[in-house]
Amino acid sequence: MTKNSFSDMTKAIKSTTKPNKETGAVNPSVEMSSTFEQKDFDNFGKWDYSRSGNPTRDVLEESIAELENGSRGFAFATGMAAISTALLTLNQGDHIILTENVYGGTFRLVTQVLVKYGIEYDFVNLSDNKALKTAFKENTKVVYAETPSNPTLQITNIKEVAEIAHQNNAKLFVDNTFMTPMLQKPLDFGADLVVHSGTKFLAGHSDILAGLIVTKDEKLGDQVYFLQNSMGATLGVSDCFLLLRGIKTLGVRMEKESQSALQLANWLEKQSIVKKVYYPELNSFEGHNIHNQQAKSGGAVLSFDLGSEDHVRKLVDNIKIPIFSVSLGAVESIISYPPKMSHAEMDRNERYERGITDGLIRLSVGLEDIDDLIEDLKNSFTEIEKDL
Ligand SMILES: *Cc1c(COP(=O)(O)O)cnc(C)c1O
Repeated sequence: MTKNSFSDMTKAIKSTTKPNKETGAVNPSVEMSSTFEQKDFDNFGKWDYSRSGNPTRDVLEESIAELENGSRGFAFATGMAAISTALLTLNQGDHIILTENVYGGTFRLVTQVLVKYGIEYDFVNLSDNKALKTAFKENTKVVYAETPSNPTLQITNIKEVAEIAHQNNAKLFVDNTFMTPMLQKPLDFGADLVVHSGTKFLAGHSDILAGLIVTKDEKLGDQVYFLQNSMGATLGVSDCFLLLRGIKTLGVRMEKESQSALQLANWLEKQSIVKKVYYPELNSFEGHNIHNQQAKSGGAVLSFDLGSEDHVRKLVDNIKIPIFSVSLGAVESIISYPPKMSHAEMDRNERYERGITDGLIRLSVGLEDIDDLIEDLKNSFTEIEKDL
């Protein structure tokens, strides 16, 4: 058995458990040093200064590269630091095509920061190949996708979009935060670069902020390394350690949480108070077939529509298990209300065009007992229905 033939569950453990050669300590040591002593005046060692490289960060960067089947991995202070660094591989005058349903922070970065440096953009529905093909310009260098997208779980066909991007001499970048490499590996379907908010499923415990990049080839990897070292938004070593610990259990968490999310989605579809359920593994869901071709399961995030803001408020007032907050991907279930949270700055018409209605709730399913979670929702729905 070669190292590469290990399954993801095994890789997640093997790549994060690196017994110390001297002491035998099973975990990578947390190297709290900004600088490294140089033994030879003429030939410096592998590490010199921690912004440029640190042994603990190296383990994390190699682990994520291995899990995503990429050549190089990079760790950043936040998901947005990773995304900013990835997009700064572009030059002044270049153009990006982004999915319409892009994460709010990425929307802000592109429309309010990168424009200042002459980087142009267009938002396109990436499920519409025709619209995508006509959106390319002479200067288009990157197509940026998120699949499933937030919060309506829109699916993009990674393989097709990668082919179209490459035919137009552009690269495909994919934000793989919602799936993680345990469920979906965009590089295997032709993407050139993957970004993550490691804050979510990879860390898994709502404890740290982190971001990651994996590149498919060394050349793009060299560009990212140059920018990581130049801009310096690297992940601190304690957080590298916590992220490594999160990755150890990523496989079991994604498997269990996906099972629970599917069970919950099926149950929600049968409730009369629920107008619509958004979950990629439901047969009724648009994009279901494409998602199944590129991902192992529907993941742990689902959304559903309760018809009105008032119903959502009553649900939040009555629910006992999920935390009401922004973010996702943790061991605890998290309920968010996109119209007042991730999409608060968008006007109502724009929100509605994206399916983000006043009754929409996003639920990131955690590791609580699914029967308890269903019971909790059931009781909350009963409270809402009392007032109807
Ligand atoms: C949270 C999130 C980000 C941003 O990551 P931070 O760690 O909060 O900076 C980017 N993309 C997606 C899909 C996210 O959910």
